[in-house]
Amino acid sequence: MNEKQLEKYREILIKERNALQEEIKDLTESEIQSSLLDSSGGLSGYPDDPGDVASDNFEKGKDLEILDMLTSKLEEVQTALEKIDTGTYGVCELCSKTIPQSRLNVKPWAKLCMKCRKDSE
Ligand SMILES: [Zn+2]
Repeated sequence: MNEKQLEKYREILIKERNALQEEIKDLTESEIQSSLLDSSGGLSGYPDDPGDVASDNFEKGKDLEILDMLTSKLEEVQTALEKIDTGTYGVCELCSKTIPQSRLNVKPWAKLCMKCRKDSE
């Protein structure tokens, strides 16, 4: 891959990283806010409507799940950016073959070529 192509992927990856960091920040802040609300609530000593509590927990679990997903994607994006710097970007981690650009265009943070990806599933 030439310098120009690498630059293109770097740009895409940096944009992706910034977007992910933004999303993670938003989610983390709303998590903190809702946990603050939780601890300040319940002054009356009576539990809230059980239905509300259940749906609240459900929402929370979903948020954490998304947060988890975003964090691991962010790690992949960051690894890909490091690879651009070290000159190993676009090389499959398992078989060391070049990952086709058609794949990188869809998933610029791909670590494995299609075949290894399939084998690892
Ligand atoms: Zn491979």
